[in-house]
Amino acid sequence: CGIVGYIGNQDAKEILLKGLEKLEYRGYDSAGIAVINEAGVHLFKEKGRIAELRKIVDTEVSATVGIGHTRWATHGKPNKINAHPHQSASERFTIVHNGVIENYELLIEEFLSDVTFKSDTDTEVIVQLVEKFVNEGLEVKEAFRKTLSKLEGSYAIAMIDRHNKETIYVAKNKSPLLIGLGDGFNVVASDAMAMLQVTKEFVELMDKEMVIVSEDNVQILSLTGENVERKPFIAKLDA
Ligand code: GLU
Repeated sequence: CGIVGYIGNQDAKEILLKGLEKLEYRGYDSAGIAVINEAGVHLFKEKGRIAELRKIVDTEVSATVGIGHTRWATHGKPNKINAHPHQSASERFTIVHNGVIENYELLIEEFLSDVTFKSDTDTEVIVQLVEKFVNEGLEVKEAFRKTLSKLEGSYAIAMIDRHNKETIYVAKNKSPLLIGLGDGFNVVASDAMAMLQVTKEFVELMDKEMVIVSEDNVQILSLTGENVERKPFIAKLDA
């Protein structure tokens, strides 16, 4: 339902939680955030309101990169296990996803029959596929691209890698997603509202684009690998 992401120099978890609160009006059944620091990935998710999620987020964890999600369940019950973010088998990759992966059962049959799934969501297929292709020898960016090329349906995705605190991997098809530009940071949001707290400058993404986001760079690529140039716009909304 709603996606946020932050990479920069400030405390990510508070920006993510505030962003999710801005998206509450859209409706959701559960919510979660994941941040990475030197100690690893810190994943917090909960059924119900953001207020419930806030109660379980460890305020001691300090991290400057992370992703967050409010879920409106389409596949799998609305509970804590099915709440996003979702992780790959080894917990290396962590993902949030809006939309519906229509061919997820076929993808499990074809590529993931030996993987034990942790949730009942269509979403988990995406993150398990990335790990599968990385285990087969692909660079993360290529594994992400290959995964996207297999997906049918709608998605807005943000993914982080435990081994790389410098990057958020982003993609979209038939679900809205924006990159927000800042000075020393960049953000991801399914709706500009979520991130007006930190920037008013956004770049719109088009279907079947993927984006490599770092704190000081935003690289938009087509799924066939060409660089895409796009000018940002200024959101004319009040925070
Ligand atoms: N299809 C995914 C799920 O059921 C994402 C739903 C959403 O867009 O919130 O978990």
